[in-house]
Amino acid sequence: MEKIKYNLVKRDKPVVLPEELGFGKIFTDHVFEMDYSAGIGWHNPVIKKLEDIPMHPASMYLHYGQGVFDGLKAFKTESGEVVIFRPQRHIQRINNSSKKLCIPEVDTEFLLHALMELIRIEKDWIPAKTGEALYIRPFIYGSEPFLGVKPSSEYKLIIMLSPVGAYYPEGFKPVKILVTDDYVRAVRKGLGDCKTPANYAASLLGGEVAKKQGFTQVLWLDGVEQKYIEEVGTMNIFIQFKNEIATPKLDGSILPGVTRDSVIQILKDWNMNVTERLISIDEVVEEYKKGNVVGVFGTGTAAIISPVGWLTYKGFEMTFNNGQPGELDVKLFNEITSIHYGKKEDTHGWIVHVENKEVEV
Ligand SMILES: *Cc1c(COP(=O)(O)O)cnc(C)c1O
Repeated sequence: MEKIKYNLVKRDKPVVLPEELGFGKIFTDHVFEMDYSAGIGWHNPVIKKLEDIPMHPASMYLHYGQGVFDGLKAFKTESGEVVIFRPQRHIQRINNSSKKLCIPEVDTEFLLHALMELIRIEKDWIPAKTGEALYIRPFIYGSEPFLGVKPSSEYKLIIMLSPVGAYYPEGFKPVKILVTDDYVRAVRKGLGDCKTPANYAASLLGGEVAKKQGFTQVLWLDGVEQKYIEEVGTMNIFIQFKNEIATPKLDGSILPGVTRDSVIQILKDWNMNVTERLISIDEVVEEYKKGNVVGVFGTGTAAIISPVGWLTYKGFEMTFNNGQPGELDVKLFNEITSIHYGKKEDTHGWIVHVENKEVEV
């Protein structure tokens, strides 16, 4: 791969971050970009000013949705170091998503290098308060101007950065979730295990219907029978039974979340009985009625741990921990954020320091 070109903008004043960062509303000055053309491969890697992308109206992505993305975070630790949480795993997932969408894979080591270079350049944009982070959004889309249906012969990969606020500015708040069987998000052997825009497009209507009824999000059931719980669409889901913490197994229609994987590892470290298996919604309801469901929580890069206070299925509302965060939710949240901000030793090798460029992928 060629060397990265640096077309940097001159910053005439220091970066001042607003008090309220929110999520995905503010972007840093620069992006990383590279192009792919059939016969040449990935080329033209450059870190340059963030600006509008000129696009041919026939760009294949606009018509047939051939694209993938990912989302990860960089943090400023207590001692002022810049770290990224499990970037190799996220980069590997880009390639896994790409395979199913016929998008050419990227060199994982090179992409990690590019990502670290971009973050190094934009380090002044990393907020430092607890809960705040620099959200990293890499994405790839088919850019060939052509209206026929086939995989594009040209692609663009962009990494953009967005400083984000604490997900729970008013404290850790449980969400209200609707289990729907009116719509499905993904099916086995389809795209459910890829981070691709199509899954989000498929989830919008169900999500809007749920919001109108006062729910925050939807818990999706399997696409074939609408019997087994799958995920929340931006989060994986865990059910804490009395003697078991269960999460749906990765059978092809569920996104393999990095937070999900981290939580499973931490629960194992704590000698808790964590399982990956089929969980039917009927089982959850029955066990709830017997008083055997201690709590439910979601996992994802944005919120890290999202306690579920209420789960409604066919008009039956289940309440967990009286609508308060469960003990385990708080413990997991604190554990993971302590690793992020360097308050706790990183025993699993999940943290990558931005200064350190000799990282194996
Ligand atoms: C990103 C995402 C998640 C969470 O994955 P993390 O790697 O933990 O951020 C869960 N479900 C879907 C559909 C997603 O796109």
